[in-house]
Amino acid sequence: MRLLVISDIHSNLEALQACLDAAPKYDRVANLGDIVGYGASPNEVVGIARNLGGVVVRGNHDRACAGVGDLNNFNRIAGFAVMWTRLALTSDNLEWVKALPQGPIPDPDLGNIEWVHGSPTDEDEYLLSENDARHALEAMDRPVTFFGHTHIQCVIGLHDGRARQFPVHYKHQDKLEYIQVRLQIGARYLINPGSVGQPRDGDWRAAFAMFDAETKTVTFYRVPYPVDMAQQRIVSADLPVRLAARLKEGR
Ligand code: ZN
Repeated sequence: MRLLVISDIHSNLEALQACLDAAPKYDRVANLGDIVGYGASPNEVVGIARNLGGVVVRGNHDRACAGVGDLNNFNRIAGFAVMWTRLALTSDNLEWVKALPQGPIPDPDLGNIEWVHGSPTDEDEYLLSENDARHALEAMDRPVTFFGHTHIQCVIGLHDGRARQFPVHYKHQDKLEYIQVRLQIGARYLINPGSVGQPRDGDWRAAFAMFDAETKTVTFYRVPYPVDMAQQRIVSADLPVRLAARLKEGR
């Protein structure tokens, strides 16, 4: 079984479309949340996410945009985008976002995998280092968890009691690239496919991953997309211009 793993689309239609165009054949989708918030195409992106189906977990921006919980942890710009998105979503799409389940969610077919937005022990936690990840790796119900939230592609493994982060490094910044990582039997892993719609590792290209359950291989992708179109939409929608600028900076 081959899974397309996407996360943190953040209403970026152009980035999502580029990822779907670049993805090789897959059997199912896993979507790790933050489908909306920041970008200017919430209804288009929710429409595609609903069509793609598969496993979908909620992110903190999905929750906030749907009016579940408060805006305490959002800065002024993110909070503005939340309110803008809440008004922009059709009532049908708003209900769909509101009903998204909290992770971690066990995969319905693969017994050793679960899906979450932040961390297996807290859907809002940022896992950015081995130290952040150690307790989660030890507490996970299943050996492999895919997570999002940080907007940074990575693999953090626990092997023989040691947690180690394997950053995903590319050679270029202007064309489609991919990197393959084969998982080892007996180790535990936290894997982040990166952010489709707002990468934060200094690389503007859209990010996603494929997981091949038979070969236990994760393939990380970076895909150029028409970022100027996504930026133009943000400006035209009267969203904060910073949200447009950061897309090209990859942060
Ligand atoms: Zn996010």
